[in-house]
Amino acid sequence: MAERLIHILPEQVASQIAAGEVVERPASALKELVENSLDAGAKAISVEIERGGAGLIAVGDDGCGMGREDAILSLRRHATSKIRDAADLSAIRTMGFRGEALASIASVARLRMVTRRAADLAGVEIAVDGGEVSLTRECAGAPGTRIEVRELFFNTPARLKFLKTVATEQSAAAEVIARLGIAHWRVAFKLVAEGRTVYELSRAASVLERMRQLFGAKVASRMLHFDSQRAGARVFGLATISQDSYPTSRMVFTFVNRRAVRDRVLQRAVTQAYDTLIPRGRYPAAAVFVEMRPEDVDVNVHPMKTEVRFRNPGAVFEAVYHALRERLADQTAAGAPSAVAQRPEPTGALIVTSDAPPPLRLVPDAPTTARAEQRALGLGWGPSTAAEVAAVYEPAEPARDDRAAAPAPAINSGAGSAGSAQVIPFGRPGEKQFPEKQIPEKQIPMYSRLRVMGQLFAGYIALESDDGLILVDQHAAHERVTFERLRAELRAGGIRVQAMLTPVPIELSPARAPQVHQALGEFRAMGFDLEPFGSATLLLKGAPAVFGADGGARLLAEMIDAMGDDGFRMRGGAAFEELLKQLACHGSVRVGRVLKEPEISALLEELDRTEFKTNCPHGRPVHIQWNRGLIERMFRR
Ligand code: ADP
Ligand code: MG
Repeated sequence: MAERLIHILPEQVASQIAAGEVVERPASALKELVENSLDAGAKAISVEIERGGAGLIAVGDDGCGMGREDAILSLRRHATSKIRDAADLSAIRTMGFRGEALASIASVARLRMVTRRAADLAGVEIAVDGGEVSLTRECAGAPGTRIEVRELFFNTPARLKFLKTVATEQSAAAEVIARLGIAHWRVAFKLVAEGRTVYELSRAASVLERMRQLFGAKVASRMLHFDSQRAGARVFGLATISQDSYPTSRMVFTFVNRRAVRDRVLQRAVTQAYDTLIPRGRYPAAAVFVEMRPEDVDVNVHPMKTEVRFRNPGAVFEAVYHALRERLADQTAAGAPSAVAQRPEPTGALIVTSDAPPPLRLVPDAPTTARAEQRALGLGWGPSTAAEVAAVYEPAEPARDDRAAAPAPAINSGAGSAGSAQVIPFGRPGEKQFPEKQIPEKQIPMYSRLRVMGQLFAGYIALESDDGLILVDQHAAHERVTFERLRAELRAGGIRVQAMLTPVPIELSPARAPQVHQALGEFRAMGFDLEPFGSATLLLKGAPAVFGADGGARLLAEMIDAMGDDGFRMRGGAAFEELLKQLACHGSVRVGRVLKEPEISALLEELDRTEFKTNCPHGRPVHIQWNRGLIERMFRR
């Protein structure tokens, strides 16, 4: 028996093991190669793949290139130009830093590298076969680097077996390019798969332009920009207006310090920001950039670097959630973030007012707020809006980053020092991210300023706007209005109660009575002033003021009907919000009710004062619109 059982693995085996973590599939190899090009300061990156990347992954760039010695070294494990010691790990500003990608890829494929620094007369070509260097020679070629990876996993059959279909691997590769392309919108990308051009993205001046290149003008024109700073994090980007939603979250892109990451905290912050705005299970399209001090985020927790660990996840969640939420609260083009709209004066939990209820409480009298007045003074939509916004969002062009300004790819002189990779700079304050084209074409109207043409099918208010015909769903509109009022009252201390002139006895069915008695607390919290009156009867003495006391008994009956056999099954604040949604729904004007003109204008005015006015609390749209152009086309004008 041998003396020793433990021995050190040969470098080639160690690399193959590392490859198992770094190179899970062709798309992950592609990601590493493209990130290297970005780190090298490339302005144009061109990618070809065959058989979904299993046959060939070729990445060419116009970055700084490598000298002969660096090129050879770059293929060794733990070879990196990006960090020198452990201390550097806490302030990483490059995509790569682990120094294992090239070695890992080379150990499980046949790799050929051609690279040249601009200052050198000739380039170098290196071929590696399953980790063994098989060729090194001088060669001609343009400055920059081209790496070809053929027959990925040819010597690791286990991995090969796990490859999915060509189509699946190809779309994973396309997703990698899309993600990196959004984060680095100033860089040109080209992706050719099986000889077909998938993406041809020229260098973009803004993230919006890149979104347009990737997803088309329609998606891009319906996005809002946001940019805010909170708790040491800057959060900026684009997100769809709340009238749009998509069946998957695949168009939600999140970045931390320009690194594409999949992160639960970020994902949750984005979805939660759209809560009650878009239907459950639907998602926005968004590009969300979080920028924070490198020390506040650990990027070295995942071999593929697609996950991060925040020092303070709660603060990051808050920063992202509020950046989006505040922008969504006012989706007019001017959309100034404002968190504290229409909060009524703090009051006690039960306020009993005794004025006689008006015959119809379609629109409750709301306190006029400073914000509402401001908007009425001209921050809504109008011909001047675009110019106003452009002025706000067009900071003076900073006189740096010549790379972005250069009209044609030109090579960084790269200082010629050994392996001097250019570091991609992160966004700096004042950077021009939002040029004038950023303004969404479809803005959210100030409903009350449009001409009311009438009511359609006793359910929809027809409005004429400058560029089209708008139908407002009266129920959805009123539902949002009452829901936001209830929520504001709740925040301010409790739902306001309006007293009935005379208490109304409510008979309970024997089957329901126990659940109702158990839920008396919730009913009271919703604004129903109830008193037990024997076992099968309740006395209703007051109802939520938003709806007026008048319909209180009917509303209560509907809520009792809606509660189900198990009662309300309350679980914390979110569940109570569900109840408020139900209450708003039952208490709001129905489709089918003819509205008088003053009621229509009151509803529209109230709607304009309401946050998240574009959608009802269940996420359905409040209005739909036909553009004038479309109408004219339909008439063949
Ligand atoms: P890391 O990116 O973590 O440093 P890699 O194995 O991916 O490790 O790359 C090793 C080194 O090779 C890099 O640090 C860089 O100096 C050099 N390199 C890799 N790709 C390129 C490229 N496309 N252009 C210039 N240098 C490159
Ligand atoms: Mg790398």
